[in-house]
Amino acid sequence: MLRTGEQYVEGIRERRHAKIYVMGKRVTDVTTNLFLKPSVLAFKATFDAAFQEDTRDLARAFSPFINEEVNRFVHIHQGPQDLVAKVKLLRRLSHKTGTCFQRCVGWDALNTLYIVTGKMAERGDGVYRERFLKYLEHVQRRDLALAGAMTDVKGVRTLRPSEQPNPDAYVRVVEERDDGIVVSGAKANITGVAAVDEVVVLPTRAMTEQDAAYAVSFAVPLDTPGVVVVVGRQINDARRMEGGDIDGVPYMAHHEGLIIFNNVFVPWDRVFMYKDWRWTGPLVEIFASFHRQGYGGCKSGLGDVIIGATYELAKTIGVDNKPNVADKLAEMVFLNESMYSAGLAASWEGSKLLKEGGWWVNPMYANVTKHLVARFPYEISKLAHDIAGGIVGTAPSEFDLKNEEIKNLLEKYLQGVPEIPAEERLRLVRLLENVSVSVGFLIESVHGAGSPAAQKIMFNRLYDYEKAGEIAKALSRIKVTVKWPKAPEPRRPSESEKL
Ligand SMILES: Cc1cc2nc3c(=O)[nH]c(=O)nc-3n(C[C@H](O)[C@H](O)[C@H](O)COP(=O)(O)OP(=O)(O)OC[C@H]3O[C@@H](n4cnc5c(N)ncnc54)[C@H](O)[C@@H]3O)c2cc1C
Repeated sequence: MLRTGEQYVEGIRERRHAKIYVMGKRVTDVTTNLFLKPSVLAFKATFDAAFQEDTRDLARAFSPFINEEVNRFVHIHQGPQDLVAKVKLLRRLSHKTGTCFQRCVGWDALNTLYIVTGKMAERGDGVYRERFLKYLEHVQRRDLALAGAMTDVKGVRTLRPSEQPNPDAYVRVVEERDDGIVVSGAKANITGVAAVDEVVVLPTRAMTEQDAAYAVSFAVPLDTPGVVVVVGRQINDARRMEGGDIDGVPYMAHHEGLIIFNNVFVPWDRVFMYKDWRWTGPLVEIFASFHRQGYGGCKSGLGDVIIGATYELAKTIGVDNKPNVADKLAEMVFLNESMYSAGLAASWEGSKLLKEGGWWVNPMYANVTKHLVARFPYEISKLAHDIAGGIVGTAPSEFDLKNEEIKNLLEKYLQGVPEIPAEERLRLVRLLENVSVSVGFLIESVHGAGSPAAQKIMFNRLYDYEKAGEIAKALSRIKVTVKWPKAPEPRRPSESEKL
């Protein structure tokens, strides 16, 4: 089933059990709450995309699990072409929203569980596979909006889950019943969490036997008794409440939240991993690589918005053709297209992890993508601010521009070239400010899908230094026998590829 954007919004309007808080106040209708509404609209864009002419083909896919067309955000990738379509769709949706549209984490969680439960079944434990396929059907038939909740609050970072002074620092099972499990703990920074139908929970790190109670994956409707969501603040977020159409957010927004599981009951048919600590390492690796690949699409899409706003702002002051500006714009394009190219490489070089499919990205290029994303957006924003001028940090409010007492003065003094009115310049400045200094373009780029150190760990695991050493020794005429593998890249298989 394919839901329209309106159907999605109607579906999340009412929460009877889950307690959602924004700036200290309980919210019952997230669709009308001024703080959350821009975020609901960004999420809605992922549903609308399936019905808009330019995105229809990218946003739809045929699901062999229900023999129907589904929204790509709930699709299980069937080959490299699907992985490529993901990156392209994300770039385009960034153009339409100017923000993070929040639906990727749940999508990556679905694809991860498809592979991990499939691997478990190949090893003879098919119970999770059966449950997951039923859950997938449930999601695809209803075109559900999912959050992916992996990141635990983690307490003392150097201690394992079972060693923590706070035993709930990682989500864990506190009771096992005939009909299911009871879970306790909290997941942090969860994108779009107040605006979803359901939350898919995954373990956040590789675990040991002592951590077995923490090796748990499950899905629950957000509106489940015991669920508490506390939505986080963002830069300039109060502007949403001011009622403006320039300073406020005429564009859309995203939100993250802390989701607390206060002794939440989960029936067995929604438990996709429990006590299987050996599978937590591959699960984290598979999820992280999927998510790192996707950033090549959405962040380059935001990069386009920034490049576009910068170029137009250069025109407002008549410097768009100057060599110093052209050079900086070219640098921005290079940085932006590098992120996108890496995301595409990770997709085209994807491979099958299951006998029946289970298409995964190339983990090396997915990690390269994310590492570029952790760096380049800051460079892009710096160049944008350079070209836009100090006004990007000092522009007066739209309410000044609307004040009859000073309107004429501002129109006169904010204007650059005479052909472009001051209001246009102010609109572009606000767009640039909102996107280039946003959580979505900067902080999420560093930490989303794991901090930069996590990618460096993967580079060291995946790069075959011994092979590169053999090549160097052979060329140096040091006596060595090089065994030439078919693949030219000196690469070791990842944990998941070895399974
Ligand atoms: C905007 C945004 C959206 C996000 N969306 C989601 C989401 O939808 N779902 C989800 O599950 N997660 C999400 N995340 C969370 C993201 O995955 C985490 O932020 C990321 O994994 C880093 O974890 P942390 O924030 O707890 O940082 P920390 O773990 O506190 O890391 C801080 C620093 O400490 C270092 N560090 C941590 N542990 C160690 C150690 N043992 N030894 C040495 N150094 C260490 C890190 O390398 C880093 O430099 C989101 C994050 C952001 C910012």
